[in-house]
Amino acid sequence: MPPARDIVVHPHPVLRMKAKPVEKIDGFVRDLVADMRRVAQELDGIGIAAPQLGESVRIFLTCGRDEEPERVFINPRLELSGTPDLHDEGCLSLPDIRAEILRPTVVRITALDLDGNEFTLESSEFMGRVWQHEFDHLEGVLIIDRMRPLDKLANRRAIRNLERAAESERGR
Ligand code: ZN
Repeated sequence: MPPARDIVVHPHPVLRMKAKPVEKIDGFVRDLVADMRRVAQELDGIGIAAPQLGESVRIFLTCGRDEEPERVFINPRLELSGTPDLHDEGCLSLPDIRAEILRPTVVRITALDLDGNEFTLESSEFMGRVWQHEFDHLEGVLIIDRMRPLDKLANRRAIRNLERAAESERGR
């Protein structure tokens, strides 16, 4: 058996790739989604995208909480509107880093579910922000790219520590 998939952290190159569309919902996809669910639960995440497990394909998952069921989004498309606002965000691939990120507030998402059925949802609440964050992962974009300069400065040490850890990993 191959080793279980685990979270990938910055600066791993897979986090910077534009992910490929899913052509077929097969065993690979179902297995990957099961791993995404497991890792998101282990790390107490709100959502997780496939590149965060090292797979550059256009899938993300939002975890169930309160009224909201778990949802899988395959090949998602976003339509954004509304006045952007700032809200605190973190990322499983950027441990110990948080910043206020400016994003549009009205979000419409269309995607396929695990059965291949297309669905559309709208949110002008927190979930709409989560969709945008996870969608960014499919485009190779991280919150460190969207931070205001002051937040980047405040997180500079944590970002450097991650990059140094990756360097010493490679040097081994
Ligand atoms: Zn993230």
